[in-house]
Amino acid sequence: MAASRTPKRLLAGGAIGALTIVAGLGLAQARQTPAAPASTCVQAGRLLADPASGKVETGKTLVVDGGKIARIEDGFVSEGCASVIDLKDSFVLPGLIDSHVHLTGENGPNQRIERFTKTRSDLALDGAWYALKTLKAGFTTVADLGSPNESIFALRDAIKAGRAPGPRIIAAGSPISVHGGHGDPGNGVPEALVPVYRPSSVCSGADDCRRAVREQVRAGADIIKITATGGVLSPTAAGLAKQFSDDELKAIVEAAHSMGRKVTAHAHGADGINAFLRAGGDSIEHGTYVDAESIKLFKAGGAWLVPTLMAGDFVVREANKPNTWLLPAQRDKALIAGPLMVDMTRRAYQGGVRIAFGTDTGVSAHGDNAGEFALMVRAGFTPIDAIRSATVWAAEHLGLSALVGTLKPGLQADLIAVKGDPTTDVTELTRVTFVMKGGVVY
Ligand SMILES: [Zn+2]
Repeated sequence: MAASRTPKRLLAGGAIGALTIVAGLGLAQARQTPAAPASTCVQAGRLLADPASGKVETGKTLVVDGGKIARIEDGFVSEGCASVIDLKDSFVLPGLIDSHVHLTGENGPNQRIERFTKTRSDLALDGAWYALKTLKAGFTTVADLGSPNESIFALRDAIKAGRAPGPRIIAAGSPISVHGGHGDPGNGVPEALVPVYRPSSVCSGADDCRRAVREQVRAGADIIKITATGGVLSPTAAGLAKQFSDDELKAIVEAAHSMGRKVTAHAHGADGINAFLRAGGDSIEHGTYVDAESIKLFKAGGAWLVPTLMAGDFVVREANKPNTWLLPAQRDKALIAGPLMVDMTRRAYQGGVRIAFGTDTGVSAHGDNAGEFALMVRAGFTPIDAIRSATVWAAEHLGLSALVGTLKPGLQADLIAVKGDPTTDVTELTRVTFVMKGGVVY
């Protein structure tokens, strides 16, 4: 049609001498705007396109072009579609986002020996396997907050290039930690191996910590992760309190922000949480001992909390096993911190803190990420708020709102389907039946 119309319109303009050129233009135009673009049409029985609104629509078709949502049409459309995906019996929503995973490993009895037997390449390939499990569970975007630089950046880049299937990865690489702190891989290895195991992300003193942040940016970190307090699973009986000094925290946040990176802090003790928030940090992971002052600071700075209830749940169950593989130092901390996390999340949620979904998966098993939803509901979340935390809110927390988190024209075609209605039963999200990421079905 375009080929016959275009020359006529131009001829009417009186360009008789340009007849042959005009005809050629018409054909070229016809090729550029084919009558049937190679659209994939996803027919959704029920659709939650924008979790922010919470509106569930029925009988919609998402038209996907070039990996993005082109438009959303009323009814079940198939005309002009190169392929049609029939999800008429399903509930469709945006792909889920987990703001806290560790893709290159999984906790277990073998973990301690594997520190000495696995190479960085082994870890990258293990990560590829876990990334596929994560994607198939409906998580199309994750933030990896602590994996060896080389392994996780290689995996992130391979997935981005389409050479490996997996979620989009925002990667921190090695966490910034004080010497002997929660994120120091020199902990628990023989003295002679400490220099081998300790990456450049371990620092002491404000200047040295600035250096450590800059080294992470150089190495390829998208986000800076720090271990602001002690942690449950480090093999040191060093408690769960603040580990950086105030001047170190300030230096870290300044160095990261000046190079366009957000900073997120693993933090349990209120002293570490509050000092990091006062230093201008962007988000807190875990937040076990969040207090009234923390809630004030979160809201004043617009910082996010990522509660990781699954990690608390997992370590308590593991610590209570008679023959647990946890070391005594780990077990003691697990039994103190784990049981506090659901109540902490309830207080933060009721206090109006912005909360992004995150699981610390790698502590628990990859692919089980959606188990967090039920724990959030136990902490008082409405199902729709739990879904928001894993879509629009997590996208905002990670600075990805222009890419993912909702289904609207121009955004990535990252979408999943379940059979039931997750806005009434969040455990439906543990039974994802369909995953599309960037227009590709997995
Ligand atoms: Zn973690």
